[in-house]
Amino acid sequence: MVDIRKYKILVNFSGGVDSTAMVLQLLSEGKQIVIHHCMIKFGVHRYKHEFQAVGSIIKKLREDFPGQFVYIQTSIDISQFKRTYDSLHTFNMASAIAFSNPGIKEIYFGLNKNDNAASFDYQKIVSAVGSNMPTVQMPLINKTKSEIKEDIRKHQGYLELCFWCRKDRPENTPCGVCPACKQYQELV
Ligand SMILES: [Zn+2]
Repeated sequence: MVDIRKYKILVNFSGGVDSTAMVLQLLSEGKQIVIHHCMIKFGVHRYKHEFQAVGSIIKKLREDFPGQFVYIQTSIDISQFKRTYDSLHTFNMASAIAFSNPGIKEIYFGLNKNDNAASFDYQKIVSAVGSNMPTVQMPLINKTKSEIKEDIRKHQGYLELCFWCRKDRPENTPCGVCPACKQYQELV
């Protein structure tokens, strides 16, 4: 079990372009952070591809920013439900971690201008959990995907490691046709 008691910042990380750019930004500023990945299983394959991307990015971060972060992981299997909402599950997990680790003062979330989820008041969700809960930080909320691309490109070798495809297929390569892939193609 990783000891996160001395950390004030929890950063949600999916292995996608947005959260990778956010993690890189915070580490470049010299911040000490807990990187949290919530593995959400609702298909047969996709979560494994995501997890693989998370693993390779964390490995590279350990080389580039040694001693500056710890990595923790939670998981939830929601495959029996028809509808899903990734961001909310990740957020619930992060709230639970913060609730049992009062040292955590800020929860970072990589939502941006292009996300529909950006319209929700996440602070409200956190506040409902307890009185001494952390503040929600969304540093990318006013950025577009192409601005985030510019940010991540400042750090060589990371964009290639990200996984963004939403299709649940055995191949570990992007499908090229889902909304997330379409969005990514506009970036490159
Ligand atoms: Zn795709």
